[in-house]
Amino acid sequence: MSHVLVTGGAGYIGSIAAFQLLEAGHDVTIFDDLSTGHLESIDSRARFVEASLLDISKLRGAMSGCDSVMHFGGKSLVGESVAKPELYMQINVEGSRNVLDAMKSEGVSRIVFSSSAATYGEPSAAPISEDYEALPTNPYGVTKLRVDELLSERATVDGFAATSLRYFNVAGALNTGSKWLGEFHNPETHLIPKVLQATVSNPLKVFGNDWPTPDGTCIRDYVHVVDLIEAHITALGQLVNPGHCIINLGSGSGYSVQEVISAAEKILGRSIPTEIDSRRAGDPAVLVASIEKAQKELNWSPTRSLESMIQDSHKAAR
Ligand code: UDP
Repeated sequence: MSHVLVTGGAGYIGSIAAFQLLEAGHDVTIFDDLSTGHLESIDSRARFVEASLLDISKLRGAMSGCDSVMHFGGKSLVGESVAKPELYMQINVEGSRNVLDAMKSEGVSRIVFSSSAATYGEPSAAPISEDYEALPTNPYGVTKLRVDELLSERATVDGFAATSLRYFNVAGALNTGSKWLGEFHNPETHLIPKVLQATVSNPLKVFGNDWPTPDGTCIRDYVHVVDLIEAHITALGQLVNPGHCIINLGSGSGYSVQEVISAAEKILGRSIPTEIDSRRAGDPAVLVASIEKAQKELNWSPTRSLESMIQDSHKAAR
């Protein structure tokens, strides 16, 4: 069993990772500044350090006693990254550099990093494999790519064993038995929670219905957060030798915005009010993962459907 430092462990994906690690018998230290995470999402079995990724001495202190890291901490909104690129460079890139420096000084060498399909930019091909050229189209994607590159360098220079997991569209929630851990972003920008929140007076804005896809709306690859975390725990367990590996996590198939709306209408038994809006800057028409590498390297395939993602997100909604 390991003692894992989970940065961003009060956030959506990090809190579910912390819970799953604790359930699997690992010790967990959560490192989070609560800037976007929630105190009530922190598992009481975990040690909690409330601090910023920019605070290297707090990071070193939190790292002591840990033997591995799951690094989720950082900023994750594409739109905000366009408005505040320096903030994203500082928190995501400098913050990650601090995590690696603290690992080095505390003798910790194994890390799983929360990377993103935003590193690929606006690909013309689908599905996208890991060797697809990374050409991010927004500062958020640039920062995730920089950290992936940093991990490659530091694997060579410092002997880290690192895996970057590039997420496609994460959705769903987890019932711990006493509460739901889910997506409680403020403001919320992601499609599935926005679909669930839509009302007649505040309809879902569909960002374009004139895309080159069968129904004219964008196609994305949705993966359940619990499947996603299972892949993280496997990846962590496999980190033994120095080196850096990049693996996509998605489902390998895509759903259009209209298909997500229709699936939610069936589950909720009511219609979802929508209005057609203009295309959102930086959106590619189709973003679907090739998950062959995850299947081969991690022996992982997602098992939870789009319907269960919508259902769980609905149950978790506050
Ligand atoms: N989308 C939409 N309306 C919304 C939010 C999202 O039409 O209010 C679309 C968006 O253009 C994209 C898909 O839904 O095609 C998924 O968007 P999301 O922001 O959830 O994730 P992203 O693909 O940007 O990571």
